[in-house]
Amino acid sequence: MTKEELIYKKQTVYEKAGKKVVDSAFAYAENYKKYLDNGKTEREALKISVQMAEAKGFKEYRLGDKISVGDKLYYNNRGKNLFVFSIGNEPINNGIRITAAHIDAPRIDIKQCPLYEDSGMGFFKTHYYGGIRKYQWVATPLSLHGVIALRDGSIIDVTVGESEDDPLFYINDLLPHLGQEQSKLPLSEGIKGEQLNILIGSMPDNEDNSIKLNVLKLLNQKYGICEEDLLSAELCVVPAAKARDIGFDRALIGAYGHDDRVCAYPALTALLDCEDNTHTLMCILADKEETGSDGPTGMQCDLMLDIIDEIARNLGGSPAAAKANSKCLSADVSAAYDPNFPEVFEKQNTPLLSCGAVFTKFTGSRGKSGTNDANAEYIGWLRSILAKDNVVWQAGELGKVDCGGGGTVAKYISKHNIETIDLGVPVISMHAPYEVIAKVDLYEAYRSICAFYKY
Ligand code: MN
Ligand code: MN
Repeated sequence: MTKEELIYKKQTVYEKAGKKVVDSAFAYAENYKKYLDNGKTEREALKISVQMAEAKGFKEYRLGDKISVGDKLYYNNRGKNLFVFSIGNEPINNGIRITAAHIDAPRIDIKQCPLYEDSGMGFFKTHYYGGIRKYQWVATPLSLHGVIALRDGSIIDVTVGESEDDPLFYINDLLPHLGQEQSKLPLSEGIKGEQLNILIGSMPDNEDNSIKLNVLKLLNQKYGICEEDLLSAELCVVPAAKARDIGFDRALIGAYGHDDRVCAYPALTALLDCEDNTHTLMCILADKEETGSDGPTGMQCDLMLDIIDEIARNLGGSPAAAKANSKCLSADVSAAYDPNFPEVFEKQNTPLLSCGAVFTKFTGSRGKSGTNDANAEYIGWLRSILAKDNVVWQAGELGKVDCGGGGTVAKYISKHNIETIDLGVPVISMHAPYEVIAKVDLYEAYRSICAFYKY
């Protein structure tokens, strides 16, 4: 063997794949940015994903419907969790190629009795959703998204702050002149959960001088609702900023919610683009990953098993065999090495920006606790299929041993006897209101998943 063959060297997509792939990556990123801007919540991301699937001929499936070879279907679980699947020609007992990404993202949810006024300002009380660093969400433009469910069964969609002429929302922060004591606090305590109140108005009603009443009158004019209707609402604020290129060379994308639409988008588009009908394919876009995957729209729900059971039985196969022979990519982001914070990363085993999609054998914390830990045999197989398409990829884990850690939905899938590994895109400033990824890494995630569906 030559020296080059003997020594493994991680390379960037620019070095290894060349101009044609880089050009395709830049083109692919344009529609991804639109997907981000039109899908800032799981409900919105699901709507666009359904539109994309329908445009490719996929039809809505309801539990109990007949399923046949060649069917292209999607199952919409409560408007928040989507299963897109196509039935292949090979026996279903050979298993399903499954990808699972999540379309929820850290944000700030509005409480059920949110409205109050104090000292000339009207506010919404909030309860944050997922692992946010609270100090990052103050003094920054926010938009309001969600639904209000009425007693008559109708649903009102709310989006305020996304068009240029919409008003925005805001969370107050302290001025540095009076922030001496606050500045001495640890970052995690500088802004407290109950201080994340959303500024929503300041003009009193001329009837009884109430800002709250004025806001309610405006909400009634626009949506026909009263205060009690907020009891059955799901409203949240997210950053109002749009996805934009970052850097003079435009090779990065800054946006809210890359975690985990940067995996959801390639997992979905790779399935919709797949022209090989051999394997049965399934792309799951999950909700509630950021709060532990609980609830009927999270990956701990048994719905995935029900759908696999229905597919297997309809095709005359065995659900147990179908699961045992399935393969899964748990598609979720990882943290890219950040030279501004070298103390938390072990460089040799941390994903580097622009070096392709990252396959993470294990997640977890404190001695791999809570990890799926993918089998070596499975990674060996993945290496062989990625090599067929010259996909640029890297192995990596989340930061230094004992520096923290985290988990994904991988363990909720592998516990059903489904071979699973984490695959994702390296992210800078994960969970911040504005995160950064590299276009070439997004595209290599897409090419990885294309190979996974095809071979
Ligand atoms: Mn994630
Ligand atoms: Mn996350």
